[in-house]
Amino acid sequence: MTNCGFDNWDLRPFFQGPDQEDYLAYFAAVQEQVGEMISCKQAPQSLEDLSAFLLEFEELQARLQHMVVYMECVRSEDIANEVSAQAQSQLEELGAQFRQVEVRLLASLRQLDEEQFKQLCSDPKMKGAEYQLERLRHSALHSMDSELENLAAELDLTGFKAWENLYENIAGSLNFEITDSKGQKRRAPMSLKVSLMEDPDRQLRTSTLAESNQAWKGAAHSVSAALNNIAGCRLKLQARRGYKHFLEEAAFDSGLQRSTLEKMIDTVLKHAELPRRYLRLKAKLLGLERLGFQDLGAPVDFAAYLHEAKPAKSKTYTWQEAGELIVKAFNRFDPAFGKFAREALDNHWIESEVREGKRPGGFCTSSILLGQSRIFMTFQGNLGDVFTLAHELGHAYHEYLMDGLRPCAHNYPMTLAETASTFAEALLSDYLLAQPGLSRLEKLSMYQRRLDDAASYLLNIVMRYLFERSFYEKRPDKLFSASELCLLMEETQKQVYGDALDEKQLDPWFWASKGHFYITEISFYNFPYIFGYLFSMGIYAQALKQGSKFLPTFTKLLRLTGSASCEDTARLGLGADLTDSKFWESSLDIINRDFTAFEELLNS
Ligand SMILES: [Zn+2]
Repeated sequence: MTNCGFDNWDLRPFFQGPDQEDYLAYFAAVQEQVGEMISCKQAPQSLEDLSAFLLEFEELQARLQHMVVYMECVRSEDIANEVSAQAQSQLEELGAQFRQVEVRLLASLRQLDEEQFKQLCSDPKMKGAEYQLERLRHSALHSMDSELENLAAELDLTGFKAWENLYENIAGSLNFEITDSKGQKRRAPMSLKVSLMEDPDRQLRTSTLAESNQAWKGAAHSVSAALNNIAGCRLKLQARRGYKHFLEEAAFDSGLQRSTLEKMIDTVLKHAELPRRYLRLKAKLLGLERLGFQDLGAPVDFAAYLHEAKPAKSKTYTWQEAGELIVKAFNRFDPAFGKFAREALDNHWIESEVREGKRPGGFCTSSILLGQSRIFMTFQGNLGDVFTLAHELGHAYHEYLMDGLRPCAHNYPMTLAETASTFAEALLSDYLLAQPGLSRLEKLSMYQRRLDDAASYLLNIVMRYLFERSFYEKRPDKLFSASELCLLMEETQKQVYGDALDEKQLDPWFWASKGHFYITEISFYNFPYIFGYLFSMGIYAQALKQGSKFLPTFTKLLRLTGSASCEDTARLGLGADLTDSKFWESSLDIINRDFTAFEELLNS
């Protein structure tokens, strides 16, 4: 237990409690409204009816979202609480009923011809909702007849989603024995693999990779069946829903054109030497000729490398210091951002206590109706926690800047969701690096953190994307055996990492160990990360160039994220062209700048 200080969030502006009168009354009112919308005999017939239905749908969705945000908070702060567990399952049921309302809406939108749809969009009551209407219409046109959609939803539980659940069960049950450099053995569950791969002990990392993969090998038949059948199921559904290519749906979910996605990936691959150069340097810093896959996330002992005295203890921050640091870092960019962070802290929007019974991890969640966010984290005083706080405050600021927009215009895709949060981290990081009191070792660690991130986005996640793409390209003609999947994975790793990774120390079982490939709700759970990272870096590049002149641009851009595609958000908000590789190169320049600074610092 640390005594670095903390805060508990104040949820009373939402409700007094999930078993209290205010929440129960709110729930009952929403439930009644959902029931009414389902039970009205006819789907909306005239455009006027449809417009009214849409307004009610939007309002209802916002009220439901308000409860979901609240429930996410109360569930996370005390996982074992039975009262909130029960309230959550009731809310989930209500959510499922609400989806029937959505099916009804989509069916009505499907029946409109182009002219009628245009007329609907030009209704003054739909002002500011045009883009979301287009998205709803696209979903409507890419859905099967209601009866078939209902069948698909029913089969989801025993088919499509069942494969994902099977995978999760297998992953949750696997464990393996590891040996550290002192020859000590212990067993570890699969859930610890990622953190073990960041251990300073190379023998432990090597053992973790080898032994965890041995465990996956034992489950190879089931896991490869899950992967093949998830893809098979998805491809069948996509074909029935009128998608012509397996990437179309993922690109639509991301609010992105396929051609833009390809331009981004091509540009990153063209400049793959940049992160590879960093990895070659990292090998040297770790005293290795070449990195193995198990070394990608390894920490570097700069003191040992530079033969400098090791600091007695790594620096820690109190809760108060962390808040002050972040406010100052944000102020340097925009006093309004700093003021917002100060108020979020002072108004107790953040839950940061180290306490048993809390869920792990961090998140930011926002109620559109309340116009407030809440941040969940566990603050133990290390630098990583300060960054988490800055990151989540970035999310909250994004929501704050959208204030006054109609509810549906808050709905931004995953690709744009990390814009403000990654930006906030960059602000903090640059602010810290500019501090005169920072030692060379501390600076080096900060750059390593940034460059490790860059290598992960530009190589590791690109590798996941290319693997998935090749797999889906060939999947209609064949079932992949586990060894074929391993081979494809190794080939992709060689292609992306080049000679920055030792060919004999790759990770052929990565297709089995990475759960993202098994998510059924969304495919290609990889490129939105690359997009978000590079988009944010591109914006940061502009902010550095323009200084305070950039502030209105930043606000305009973030307000657009739920009202336009990624391309239009960049064009209208930033004057940038995402279909031109120059934009992506400007993001890579920032990483190049970091790499140069890192090298100079090492050699100084
Ligand atoms: Zn985030």
